[in-house]
Amino acid sequence: MRFLIGGGSGFVGRELMCLLKNKGHEVTVISRQPGPGKITWDELELNGLPHCEGVINLAGENLMNPLRWQVWNEGYKKDLFSSRINTTKSLAQAIAGSPSPPCSWVLVTGVACYKPSLTAEYSEDSKWTPFDLLSKLVKEWEASALLQENMAKTTRQFIIRPGVVLGRDGGAMKQMLLPFWLGLGGTLGSGRQPFPWIHISDLAGIIAHALEHPGDVASSSPQVFNGVAPVLNTNYEFTKELGRIMRRPTILPVPGFFVKALMGSERAMVLTQGQKVIPKRTQESGYHYKYPDLTSALIEIVGD
Ligand code: NDP
Repeated sequence: MRFLIGGGSGFVGRELMCLLKNKGHEVTVISRQPGPGKITWDELELNGLPHCEGVINLAGENLMNPLRWQVWNEGYKKDLFSSRINTTKSLAQAIAGSPSPPCSWVLVTGVACYKPSLTAEYSEDSKWTPFDLLSKLVKEWEASALLQENMAKTTRQFIIRPGVVLGRDGGAMKQMLLPFWLGLGGTLGSGRQPFPWIHISDLAGIIAHALEHPGDVASSSPQVFNGVAPVLNTNYEFTKELGRIMRRPTILPVPGFFVKALMGSERAMVLTQGQKVIPKRTQESGYHYKYPDLTSALIEIVGD
């Protein structure tokens, strides 16, 4: 099968591309930069959707961009929105305008739509309304992907909401490894907050599973899958397990006010608060996790 991945050059995209190619599929990336195996967003707009069986969007300004780490300002927030919403709209329009629309259209968003809580548990069936900047972003982002009802028969729509994606070559782990190696790793804030996470290989696996099993039921609403591991962990459990596997002390907690001062309170929420997210439909879909628990995931990432 042929797949088109917006933002496929990034952390999740590289893993997904590898998995799809290993399964024998052909992959084209949409990027801001031209290159082999790529088309640009301008080319997509100009020439329409290349023929493919599935489209995925992973593009977006990084929420934890190390180059903009201490610049949490209106320009950054605007980029977070426009980079996601404009690319998603471009893809949805290209799909709608295609003479041979793909069988699947997968948007990857996030669990920031669920309100942080120490007690509430959220499955894909949970109702939610935006309560802060990031949940507003998820609302607008997911809305921008929706196809017209008349597309329901041809194209299955999926939304995958990942927690923190754990992998060796990018994302949160890449930024955490140095402080942990130096023995400076510690719980963030109280440490009691839930820490929804997924191993990168499982996120790629869930996306591939949706692409390869789009299902027979035509629906104008997207199928939502929570992209999190099936176990619930707190930030304390994550910190202690990472320290244990790396054989490093984790005795220095990082106070919540420090994280907020460093990153801005709206962004710090991602680290100092969290949601208990259950991948109910993901498991019902028949997807089998490679790394269902923290120990197996962290050993794969930092074990040697
Ligand atoms: P990356 O930060 O690696 O970015 C993915 C790609 O987006 C980049 O390779 C880049 O492609 C493109 N991009 C970056 N900035 C812009 C911009 N301003 N305008 C247009 N395109 C841009 O993301 P991940 O792979 O980590 O994540 C993929 C998706 O999953 C994102 O939407 C992210 O929000 C979401 N997600 C990720 C989580 C994580 O822990 N990593 C957790 C939850 C959700 P190019 O340079 O080729 O144009």
